[in-house]
Amino acid sequence: MRPLSSWGRLSEQDHDVVSLSPKDAQVGLPLITKPSVAFGMGRSYGDACLNSGGRVWDTAGLDHFLEFDPRTGILTCEPGVLLRDIQRYCIPQGWMLPVTPGTQMATVGGAIANDVHGKNHHVFGTFGEHVQHLKLLRTDGQTIVCSATENPEYFAATVGGVGLTGVIIQATLQLRKVMGPWLETETIPYGNVKEFFALAAESESTWEYTVSWIDCLAGKGGRGLFMRANHAPNVSGQEPIGRTRSFPFVPPVSLVNKASLRLFNNAYFYLNRSKQGTGVVHYQPFFYPLDNLQHWNRMYGPKGFYQYQSVVPTSLAPEVTQTMLDEIARSGQGSFLAVLKTFAERPAVGMLSFPSAGATLALDFPNHGEATESLFRRLDAIVLEAGGRIYLGKDARMPRPVFEAGYPNLKEFLRFRDPGISSEMSRRLMGY
Ligand SMILES: Cc1cc2nc3c(=O)[nH]c(=O)nc-3n(C[C@H](O)[C@H](O)[C@H](O)COP(=O)(O)OP(=O)(O)OC[C@H]3O[C@@H](n4cnc5c(N)ncnc54)[C@H](O)[C@@H]3O)c2cc1C
Repeated sequence: MRPLSSWGRLSEQDHDVVSLSPKDAQVGLPLITKPSVAFGMGRSYGDACLNSGGRVWDTAGLDHFLEFDPRTGILTCEPGVLLRDIQRYCIPQGWMLPVTPGTQMATVGGAIANDVHGKNHHVFGTFGEHVQHLKLLRTDGQTIVCSATENPEYFAATVGGVGLTGVIIQATLQLRKVMGPWLETETIPYGNVKEFFALAAESESTWEYTVSWIDCLAGKGGRGLFMRANHAPNVSGQEPIGRTRSFPFVPPVSLVNKASLRLFNNAYFYLNRSKQGTGVVHYQPFFYPLDNLQHWNRMYGPKGFYQYQSVVPTSLAPEVTQTMLDEIARSGQGSFLAVLKTFAERPAVGMLSFPSAGATLALDFPNHGEATESLFRRLDAIVLEAGGRIYLGKDARMPRPVFEAGYPNLKEFLRFRDPGISSEMSRRLMGY
């Protein structure tokens, strides 16, 4: 038994951690005596990867590349391979992950199970769109190979299925061609939510990556910085030095509070506004700006923090985003790291995939108990009324009715659950 927590550090409970080896992946899961769930790098913010008092299967030992063809960009690997290692190995050979989240310290298994998205949803969709096929190990010993055409219902349940259909033991991914690690970027300050949506619409046809930071305390002002980028041809330059820093300790209280937030948001806005314009940037700081400070999640103190990430439909997005920002500004809670971006109209790969056409707002909130919960209830009501949903990969608290309303394919999904798998999230949202 050892204590485990996820990225939000809301709890740290003992888990029976069983490390999976390539042999387990071949012969079946180690003796099922109690419901268990797979654990990647614990970069989910909430309880998708947790099973307090129960068992988790740690996939860190399943970290082998099995085959890579540099002519086609097709990679077969084990599920514990880090996205970072794929980027490092493949980019020098002219290939890159088509979709990557805001951290490269996630595993392939975790990226599939949350069907993660990046800053280029309007071009490449979600991670699951680039999985050619995968091998799923069920707790009854069966191995199911599935893809969009072979056992497609298992594939659709597993992509975005938060680990509940079996353990992914192998995946084959189609990478995309790139000219190198460099991006041409542009940063544009904006003054309100309306301006954000105008910039997003204007950028979609000519820019592959779009994302924005928004000042969650600015209320009606809604000021922010819009960042867009494309892959840069014919650039050579100095790779960033691989030195990372670490947030060294857990402070007794959260360092994120109203005063520090106001100070940070002002400084961030004015500093970056002065750097507005174009530039050439390595993919690492652009895609993964937070990975350079390891354990940054400790700054929220011993009570941890939540991330609230919602998506609301395109037609209502400007108005609803403004209403949510007003509610957050009124509460005085919120984060340094508020992200607003858009998703395009694309068919979802997974039954429980999060992205759908519209705007997605993601904010971190220090855990202030009931004050935070009560803000979330107000935000839930706004999201639900607009016909939106909340991201399972970030969630630790959404009530079951909010989940059921946001995920209409739930009933279909439940048919493919593996009865030997259970997580804190599945018990909270699905009853077992
Ligand atoms: C700084 C930061 C930025 C982020 N930015 C984004 C973003 O831009 N977009 C986005 O979509 N997400 C983002 N995330 C969330 C993160 O990408 C996802 O939560 C991802 O799934 C974490 O992968 P992991 O390997 O840590 O998996 P875990 O957190 O350990 O597990 C996640 C889920 O995957 C399941 N799982 C893991 N391995 C397997 C397996 N082999 N078989 C079956 N199920 C498995 C687990 O049971 C669990 O349900 C971000 C997270 C952080 C910390």
